[in-house]
Amino acid sequence: MFVDIISPKFQRLNLDELKKTEPLRKLNFAVFALGSSTYPNFCAFGIYLDRIIGELGGQRLFEVTCGDEMCGQEQTFRKWAPEVFKSACQTFDVDYSEGLSDAFHDDTLTASTVRMVPSQREGTIDQLLSKYHNKKVQRYKMKSAPRNLTKLAEDDKPTILVEIYAPGLDYEPGDHVGIFPANSTDIVNGVLKRLTGFEDPDEVLQVQVMRKKKTPNGTFNCWEPHDKIPAETPRGLLTHFFDITTPPQMELLNLLADFCDDNYDTERLQKLGTDNAAYEEWRQLYLPTLLTVLEQFRSCKPPAGLLFGNLMPLQSRFYSISSSPRKVINEIHLTVAVVKYKNQRGNERFGVCSNYLTNMKEQEPLYFFVRSAPGFHLPKDSSEPMVLIGPGTGIAPFRSFWQELEVWRELKMQRSKVWLFFGCRTREMNLYAEEKALLEREKILDRVFLALSRDLEIPKTYVQHQIENEFDTLYQLIVEERAHIYVCGDVTMAEDVCGTIRKCIAAKEQKTEAEVEAFLLALRHENRYHEDIFGITSHAGEARNRSTLRRGSRTLNAL
Ligand code: FAD
Ligand code: NAP
Repeated sequence: MFVDIISPKFQRLNLDELKKTEPLRKLNFAVFALGSSTYPNFCAFGIYLDRIIGELGGQRLFEVTCGDEMCGQEQTFRKWAPEVFKSACQTFDVDYSEGLSDAFHDDTLTASTVRMVPSQREGTIDQLLSKYHNKKVQRYKMKSAPRNLTKLAEDDKPTILVEIYAPGLDYEPGDHVGIFPANSTDIVNGVLKRLTGFEDPDEVLQVQVMRKKKTPNGTFNCWEPHDKIPAETPRGLLTHFFDITTPPQMELLNLLADFCDDNYDTERLQKLGTDNAAYEEWRQLYLPTLLTVLEQFRSCKPPAGLLFGNLMPLQSRFYSISSSPRKVINEIHLTVAVVKYKNQRGNERFGVCSNYLTNMKEQEPLYFFVRSAPGFHLPKDSSEPMVLIGPGTGIAPFRSFWQELEVWRELKMQRSKVWLFFGCRTREMNLYAEEKALLEREKILDRVFLALSRDLEIPKTYVQHQIENEFDTLYQLIVEERAHIYVCGDVTMAEDVCGTIRKCIAAKEQKTEAEVEAFLLALRHENRYHEDIFGITSHAGEARNRSTLRRGSRTLNAL
């Protein structure tokens, strides 16, 4: 399709002319847009694609549907896919009833169509995780217990250095790892106590699903292993495979309502499972984990197999690598902010992976994969200057950069100017303060800036304020010496930094808005503006509220 519209015949036309020719009029389409409501412009690409295909004449089979990574993306997709398939079959006048059940198993499990039977494990945890997530997951060991990188109390451990023994691991400064965490033992034990359908939480069991099989002799019911869930102990499944801390979705509450002995619990769960407003209010108030739900509705005792078949996978968490493989041989380091927050009732909640990492001991195994980030690698030419901007944990990849620069120095490679802008709340949180001071003395980092946002003695300062103050020299570095700009960290910070650069360029060169946009676009095209953005860090609470508001307004629009 796109090969067609980029063919020379169409390239001569502008978009408005192209729309008039309706080049896609023979195309039937449906778009499932992927996104995360913690980022601005939620699902913007999918929505754009849907609009543009429609404007180019495409026949929409189904309204564009958005899958929110923050909220039941997989469930939304599972609902969307068979509906689109049905709609496509109707459009093309094909009998969908047979194909539909083969193409999409009816995943609506019930207590009588799912069971757990004794089984054998079919691999080690890393092998099972690899299969479950369709990724090459490796097992490595902690080199030592994590270290507090701040001068705040040991208990707080707000940001830690994680050192992992990882011989032979192939990575570059700037790359990420995806860590598969384990859920906290307390939550797992609490949930195990409330489930039925097994006797020993440490016996390996296989979840089986009853499926209808069509044969020439008729249709039969038969038990088949669940498509995804591996043979594992209930404890192992809850520890490594299922998300049991994200607030359960309404669908799950509805399902749990069927397994309460007390009518009051049933009615209340049904209300939360069907009434959007009641659900949102309850979710905001408690930010409940699965255990919170089971403790709140004490008569609820769901069958384990059915519950497992309805839980979402425990996803990996990405971390920027904070080491260079040429500087720390056989090791990989991470800089991790430990996520702790309170719900509106004052109960503490803990981020799964960051707290899992902070509680690790020397030699404990952990499971991860490397994800290359070619857009965030060091310049190929060692003489090209760099401006590194990363407040908070945004500093993580820059430690891998400066370790690499140390190696470049040892190799007597031509050196470049490097400026580092770091920001944190108070001086106690000045991550890698000694390392940075040493690097500045050794002229590996030429200038190191510290923006303090909550120091009582100075006005609130962010990295972009210092960028603005220094812009005369920075301008020379960026425009005349063709420096690379690297921005890492929170999405709002990255937008604000870009806004500041935009504003400073406009003032310096007396450029119009369009000219500044073209300048920034050129920087990106020349691969000189690099961003590594975390969707959710310090402002997760606000982001969640935004996502809730957005869902709320969608519901209102739908009414
Ligand atoms: P989770 O269990 O995932 O909990 C986080 C969730 O808690 C949020 O989604 C939100 O729903 C909720 N939440 C958090 N705070 C609040 C609040 N105040 N109010 C209400 N709800 C709240 N992190 C680093 O520390 N270092 C890195 O180098 C790093 N690199 C990253 C690179 C990339 C490409 C990406 C995408 C992310 C990176 N992150 C990094 C973030 C990291 O992946 C995790 O998101 C983070 O550690 C939290 O994971 P967790 O499992 O501890 O928390
Ligand atoms: P962070 O400490 O939250 O933020 C780093 C710095 O960036 C802070 O100075 C912050 O200022 C500033 N900042 C905020 N918004 C900005 C913007 N739009 N532009 C530029 N700078 C901005 O980040 P982090 O170190 O990556 O921490 C992330 C996680 O650690 C979060 O979960 C956070 O809650 C947690 N944390 C906990 C503690 C603790 O004491 N327990 C302390 C710090 C962080 P502000 O002062 O305005 O936030």
